[in-house]
Amino acid sequence: MEYIASFSGGKDSAATVILAKEHGEPLNEIIFSEVMYSETISGELPEHINFVKNVAFPLFESWGYKTKILRAEKTYLDLFYHTLKKSKYPERIGKKAGFPMAGKCAVNRDCKVKAIRDYIAAKDKTQLTQYIGIAIDEPKRLERLDEGKVSLLAKYNYTEEMAKAKAEEYGLLSPCYEYSTRGGCWFCPNASIQELKHLRNNYKELWDELLRLEEIPDIIGDVWNTRNRTSIHEIEERLFWEKAQMTVYDFL
Ligand code: SF4
Repeated sequence: MEYIASFSGGKDSAATVILAKEHGEPLNEIIFSEVMYSETISGELPEHINFVKNVAFPLFESWGYKTKILRAEKTYLDLFYHTLKKSKYPERIGKKAGFPMAGKCAVNRDCKVKAIRDYIAAKDKTQLTQYIGIAIDEPKRLERLDEGKVSLLAKYNYTEEMAKAKAEEYGLLSPCYEYSTRGGCWFCPNASIQELKHLRNNYKELWDELLRLEEIPDIIGDVWNTRNRTSIHEIEERLFWEKAQMTVYDFL
């Protein structure tokens, strides 16, 4: 039997690997699927991917575990620039897809999960167990666990809070938790205003990419959050004035 842990860099999957080590659970390999924005730019927040590659994986390797970073064939930009050949809405045919639908994110399916699925598909499923980081206070997700998938957090009665404390104990809490309760892609349409502020203040070049994408003509998903029609340009204006106001107050 082969045992693989899917690591997202979040507290639950970090605690899963720690529990495997503490309890001597069998574990052959730890995999991380990196979403790519383009061929060369990661879709993961820079501090998060740095944490995975330079903090978490070296520690796991020092514990004797094999690690692997997977990447799907498609990038975020591939999906963004995909030209629709078929649609039940004729006016959409020939247009580019643009920003993904918030809440029905195709990036997760095509750029993250696909890499894991393909990797697992090449293995003998009857001889494989996957560790998935789901805590005991997520009963619905636990119920949906497919055959061959096991939660060590559930086995050892770990809540999300306990998983966070465990990850922290080993220095395995991603820096993303300093400003957010969740990780995710830097272009995520579900990002909170706090996360957007963080992106704008720290990674102006990535922020400018989102502004640039919104200016491309003739696309279907033409604003960053297609569900509630929030645009990055509106948020840019809001954050610009917020910052300008703070500067005036500071001056006064
Ligand atoms: S973090 Fe957001 S953009 Fe990235 S895969 Fe998940 S839902 Fe999609």
